[in-house]
Amino acid sequence: MKITFLGTAAATSFPLTFCQCKNCKAAKKHKGKSIRKRCSLLIDDKILIDLCPDFLTALNMYGKDISKIKYLLQTHPHSDHFDAGHFVTRMTDYATENAPNLDIVASKNCLLRMSEMIKSNEDIDIFDKKWQKDLNIALNEIKHGQEINFENYKILAIESLHDLKQGSLLYLIEKGKSSILYATDTVVFSDKALDTLKNRCLTCLILDHTYGFVENHGGHLNEKLFLQEIDKLKKINAVNSKTLIYATHISHEGCSYHEQMEKDAKGKYLVAYDGLEIKI
Ligand SMILES: [Zn+2]
Ligand SMILES: [Zn+2]
Ligand SMILES: [Zn+2]
Repeated sequence: MKITFLGTAAATSFPLTFCQCKNCKAAKKHKGKSIRKRCSLLIDDKILIDLCPDFLTALNMYGKDISKIKYLLQTHPHSDHFDAGHFVTRMTDYATENAPNLDIVASKNCLLRMSEMIKSNEDIDIFDKKWQKDLNIALNEIKHGQEINFENYKILAIESLHDLKQGSLLYLIEKGKSSILYATDTVVFSDKALDTLKNRCLTCLILDHTYGFVENHGGHLNEKLFLQEIDKLKKINAVNSKTLIYATHISHEGCSYHEQMEKDAKGKYLVAYDGLEIKI
């Protein structure tokens, strides 16, 4: 599988919109990999994880063709991960031509919230078959432990305690012998999640590293918890010495500019950056 990191920032961006803290100032000085857009991921140019506000900018920057994207895996509907404004342009009213069919995978609560967000932009009901036809979408409701197959991909939903009310999910994507766990936004893994991940021997783990080297303020992981969760995954044989481990969802609160973050990782994991493309 080919994995493209379209964005790797927490909240709106890194540097954060109005912030003048030392980490934001350092990112502005160092530029390059230190400038981060909102989190989303592209797999084999056709599976998008999170229709975030910056995904289109990222596709254009990295020479990706939106018409190849057939599947959307939505982790949750927080505004840094779902942008209703982009979504509604699929309507006939916007004169969009030939929008390719999009299979959307999300939890029930996530779909309900997405629907509200979409309705606040346009008078559209994504649960209505008539609208699904107009938008050329299919909804695939999924919950923890359920699997859905597209082409040669197996997609498994895993609960995330990040925001249960809004149905946050993590996704494990497998194709052949390769597997990726996309695990942002997340707090520590639940027992249910760990049970599902047992003996998965992941090829690649992409994990929430929001708070970096400061205290954890909730909803996400800092570096201490990030390493603690990796240890838990090693104990259940979900992660082994060959697993590629990437930190993502990076916040100015406890993370420095990219090159410093790489030094701080001390070889224990890799730090993702926008535009990074890997093959596993
Ligand atoms: Zn987020
Ligand atoms: Zn800042
Ligand atoms: Zn979130």
